[in-house]
Amino acid sequence: MDIKKNVETVTEEIKQACERSGRNSSDVTVIAVTKYVSIERTKEAVDAGITHLGENRSEGLQEKFDAMGSEAKWHFIGSLQSRKVKDVIDIITTIHSLDRLSLAKEIHKRANQKISCFVQVNVSGEESKHGISPDEVLSFIERLSNYDNIIVEGLMTMAPHTEDEERLRSTFHHLREIKEEVERKGWVHAPCHGLSMGMSNDYQIAIEEGATHVRIGSKLVGREDQ
Ligand SMILES: *Cc1c(COP(=O)(O)O)cnc(C)c1O
Repeated sequence: MDIKKNVETVTEEIKQACERSGRNSSDVTVIAVTKYVSIERTKEAVDAGITHLGENRSEGLQEKFDAMGSEAKWHFIGSLQSRKVKDVIDIITTIHSLDRLSLAKEIHKRANQKISCFVQVNVSGEESKHGISPDEVLSFIERLSNYDNIIVEGLMTMAPHTEDEERLRSTFHHLREIKEEVERKGWVHAPCHGLSMGMSNDYQIAIEEGATHVRIGSKLVGREDQ
């Protein structure tokens, strides 16, 4: 696996997707998702210029953080159990999976500083997916103002597992519309300018639809779990 080459390819494809949609590639943050790979490969990604890393389990995060420290910024991207918050809160800069008030309460309680959060939205409505439903986003975010340590940086979604480009595009587009609705509220605790959407199979479409954070695992660092 040539991770340096993968980073170059992804960087180039992001640049092209930005050109197609009149955006600036400096407005897109690439998060390399390392949940399927070893510390070695994670280090290779950092050596190849990656500065943001994502993990979806507190154990994996802890293990890699112990080995690498603050060489990179850490993002928590998976569903987070409230009782695990205390294990990750001092390591991460951003949580991409805020989906319930009990979790917000725990983050607020454990954090020593403001934590940037993406609210996870289940745009596609699939039962298997986490996240709050689109029509509850505004009331949910309004209630987050009770938790001072939470800053809503944006919204996050996982697209359906499909090759159907139009379906992917409409999912991303819908998230963007909801984000703009939140932005228009002008809430101090929820500037909500970010869109965390797009993975290995669909990040180019996500960027064309406005993604500011793409979470890319297999296409950047491969997989060692299969
Ligand atoms: C695993 C995972 C990714 C990355 O998936 P790839 O398809 O390997 O790019 C992105 N986001 C979340 C929330 C994930 O769990």
